[in-house]
Amino acid sequence: MTASTKDILAAAIRSIPDYPKPGIIFRDITTLLGDAAAFRLAVDELVKPYEGMGVDKIAGMEARGFILGGAMAHQLSAGFVPIRKKGKLPYRTVSMAYALEYGTDEMEIHVDAVKPGEKVILCDDLIATGGTAVGAVKLLRQIGAEVVSACFVIDLPDLGGRKNLEALGVEVRTLAE
Ligand code: AMP
Repeated sequence: MTASTKDILAAAIRSIPDYPKPGIIFRDITTLLGDAAAFRLAVDELVKPYEGMGVDKIAGMEARGFILGGAMAHQLSAGFVPIRKKGKLPYRTVSMAYALEYGTDEMEIHVDAVKPGEKVILCDDLIATGGTAVGAVKLLRQIGAEVVSACFVIDLPDLGGRKNLEALGVEVRTLAE
């Protein structure tokens, strides 16, 4: 990825100070999603390393991971698997607690969302501490997925998420900071 690609993507993302609470700078990708050229560029860059790898499924985190992951799945001719907040999926689920800044929450996946050994890529808009993505990788492995990589548009490197995921043996790819 060239420096200018990174700059174009970074410029398309809006930062909102003190949202949802004081001290947090919220990285709002709705501006990127609403910009046809930037959205296409982001999805093209996300899928590029995975082309020809025989990826079976993209797993997207609720909610912004659904938008990016759905577009990736289409482009890679892969299936899409939603990982959702507790209580949203209608069939039998497996659930996993994951760390938030304060306390924990739970995410769920359908028990039959992947077949054993299927190659899956995890997708979300942003990685911060990595707590959400680490929980998702554990969930996917629990139902038999081979998680080959995790990708995000934005990395907040000071929060250490990349290292936490790599410690699980998962390759991490990000587009901007
Ligand atoms: P974490 O589990 O700490 O890596 O946080 C990642 C999840 O929280 C992702 O689903 C992000 O969408 C969301 N998130 C965390 N921090 C931010 C932020 N500063 N701006 C936007 N989304 C965030």
